[in-house]
Amino acid sequence: EHRLDEILPAADKVAVMDRGSILCFDTPAEVGTFLKRNDHDMFAAMPAPLQIYAGVPSDDTCPLTVREGRNWLNKLFEKKQITYSKIEHEKKELSNDIVIQMKDVWFKYEKNAPDVIRGLNLRIQKGEWHAVVGGNGTGKTTTIKMILGLLSIDSGSILVDGQPLLKTERQLKAQLGYLPQDFGLFNELTVAQFLDYMAALKGLRDSGTAVREVIRTVNLEGQARARIRSLSGGQRQRVGIAQALLGDPKVIILDEPTVGLDPEERIHFRNLFSQTAQDRLVLLSTHIIEDVQSVCGQLVVMDQGRVLFTGTPEALIQSAAGHVGVFWEREAAQEAGLHITARVNTSQGIRCRAVADVLPRFAQPAEPTLEDAYLYLISREAVQ
Ligand code: ADP
Repeated sequence: EHRLDEILPAADKVAVMDRGSILCFDTPAEVGTFLKRNDHDMFAAMPAPLQIYAGVPSDDTCPLTVREGRNWLNKLFEKKQITYSKIEHEKKELSNDIVIQMKDVWFKYEKNAPDVIRGLNLRIQKGEWHAVVGGNGTGKTTTIKMILGLLSIDSGSILVDGQPLLKTERQLKAQLGYLPQDFGLFNELTVAQFLDYMAALKGLRDSGTAVREVIRTVNLEGQARARIRSLSGGQRQRVGIAQALLGDPKVIILDEPTVGLDPEERIHFRNLFSQTAQDRLVLLSTHIIEDVQSVCGQLVVMDQGRVLFTGTPEALIQSAAGHVGVFWEREAAQEAGLHITARVNTSQGIRCRAVADVLPRFAQPAEPTLEDAYLYLISREAVQ
């Protein structure tokens, strides 16, 4: 038997074996005393009262239960001067205006591998939708995992409300709704059963109401009793979003939440989150810039492990003014420095759209879209 806490005090006799021989065979208290006297490794496996007994000079009989241990300690401390010191309690709550900051963060997955995150700076706060946008492999998921404390950074700092993440991780997690990229669902459960289960894991009190609410929020009322295995990709994704929203968390982090959603579901999703952001910190990652265009307050553009831009979508669009043009493909045969962002076949030929630092004379200036501005930013970075 290796669970000794219960069995030891109840036993009449105990035999301790080591390497094929019996070290001692006696009453539990005598065995405790024997192990203490011989400073035997086996003590580490003994119940707490015995371990404490082993660490304190005392000729009394070895206590076996917590109650005996308490009596023994009381007797030991009788007539002794006791000084109490205060243990600082952890801060229980995050502030109302949660701020997460990353300062000059570097990270790589393996010792001799290249840096995946390279001097990343980021500040996100409550009240606005923050969308991290960037191509595949630029480090969005890695950044999210670092904020959640799932990966530890090589250098730099991550602060939550001005305190190091290591100190605030628990409070952050207690208020977190998180949708990971590779979210696994239990196929045999129904939507409601699964969310009930997640609500239990989160320790929600009124889980029935909470589950009904999130099902309504993600528009899955018709599927509440359907087994997860019977759902479409988009519906499954909505179940994932629903579990992140359970319990009304103050911090919502969603990694590529729009993957698998059809155009209509995307619109629903945008509306949903434009309403949810006001009172919380919302961070999501996506490689589809359209998904965030109309709703996100703060856009964070990442490229190759760094943040290239943080600001409103309008500010990004402004930065590309005068750098977007359209022209016929035949006009641009030898033009260098143009970054073509779209080609459309028409009856008169191929119409191109491009971004450039200096537009060529043949290009007609065009109003930049968010996508143009994003591509302009990335193309400039590539040149540098
Ligand atoms: P994104 O979310 O922007 O697509 P990731 O953060 O997933 O980017 O990946 C950034 C880089 O880190 C990529 O080059 C990817 O191949 C690499 N990477 C991601 N996860 C791991 C891992 N577990 N081990 C080694 N390399 C990884």
